[in-house]
Amino acid sequence: MKTFDFVVIGAGIAGASAACELAPHGRVALLEREDTPGYHTTGRSAALFTATYGNAVIRGLTVGSRAFFDSPPDGFTEHPLLTPRGAIFIGREDQRRALDEGLADSKALTPSVEPLDQKDILARVPVLDPAYVAGGVHEPECMDMDVHAIHQGFLKLGRSRGVALATNAEVTSLSHKAGAWWVTTQAGVFAAPVVINAAGAGGRIEWVEWDGTPKWSFDYGVSAVAPDNLNRLQHHDVEVLPNGNILMIAWEYKTSAEAIQAGRDPANLGTEL
Ligand SMILES: Cc1cc2nc3c(=O)[nH]c(=O)nc-3n(C[C@H](O)[C@H](O)[C@H](O)COP(=O)(O)OP(=O)(O)OC[C@H]3O[C@@H](n4cnc5c(N)ncnc54)[C@H](O)[C@@H]3O)c2cc1C
Repeated sequence: MKTFDFVVIGAGIAGASAACELAPHGRVALLEREDTPGYHTTGRSAALFTATYGNAVIRGLTVGSRAFFDSPPDGFTEHPLLTPRGAIFIGREDQRRALDEGLADSKALTPSVEPLDQKDILARVPVLDPAYVAGGVHEPECMDMDVHAIHQGFLKLGRSRGVALATNAEVTSLSHKAGAWWVTTQAGVFAAPVVINAAGAGGRIEWVEWDGTPKWSFDYGVSAVAPDNLNRLQHHDVEVLPNGNILMIAWEYKTSAEAIQAGRDPANLGTEL
């Protein structure tokens, strides 16, 4: 058994960054199930840095994180972490109020966000249907994120700060005894008073009452009750429709052959999706 101050489970972007930031405060073990970090969601993320996405708290966190990406610590990376992309959000006439509210909310934190009228939008994106688009919002400072560089930067900086990374170390059970968590993995037992669960995977939608009582749940991705859903993830938001059905964005692994059969251009595909 090895003892630490912190055990972090999962070496995706959440675990790698948490372990790195905790390292100055104590001994950290970073436990990863796969033989290399970044195999799951982090390694598949086509990431966009957008300060107009999500609620006020998320937008605030995004804006607050910008300085780090613009000026990461020395030695973190040799490449820019953000590169300009720009984004346009469009709406129909009946969505104009939502567009105006979104613009006002976003502008409070990101003054460069600007309104676009239909003519501006169609000039920039001629494939859009003029009968659908009434107006939009332009976010010129929206950026592409170099996920690989960010992830590797945290792993590298963490290593230099003493983070002990264990791969092929799937956590199979946790128990609490003598003031510490005993974390059992395929690579042995790790003990620490604090465990951070960064094992990722959006796959369960739950409806929980305000008092904490679970009302309903649905497992789409892998979970304790659906361990075979390895190739599926729930992605971003869910929406309750007027008829009570729940709409969610689902992500499912496909081979290149399956994608091409479904109509994808082979020139735009790697070996897998
Ligand atoms: C197509 C796509 C586009 C995206 N676009 C954006 C975007 O534009 N902007 C944005 O900010 N985000 C985006 N995301 C979301 C973002 O990529 C994820 O939120 C983020 O990568 C999740 O990181 P994570 O560390 O929480 O999870 P993961 O990367 O899944 O890492 C969890 C790790 O835990 C390990 N693990 C799991 N169980 C155990 C166990 N029992 N023991 C030990 N290890 C375990 C896994 O092997 C894995 O390595 C996108 C995601 C996808 C797929």
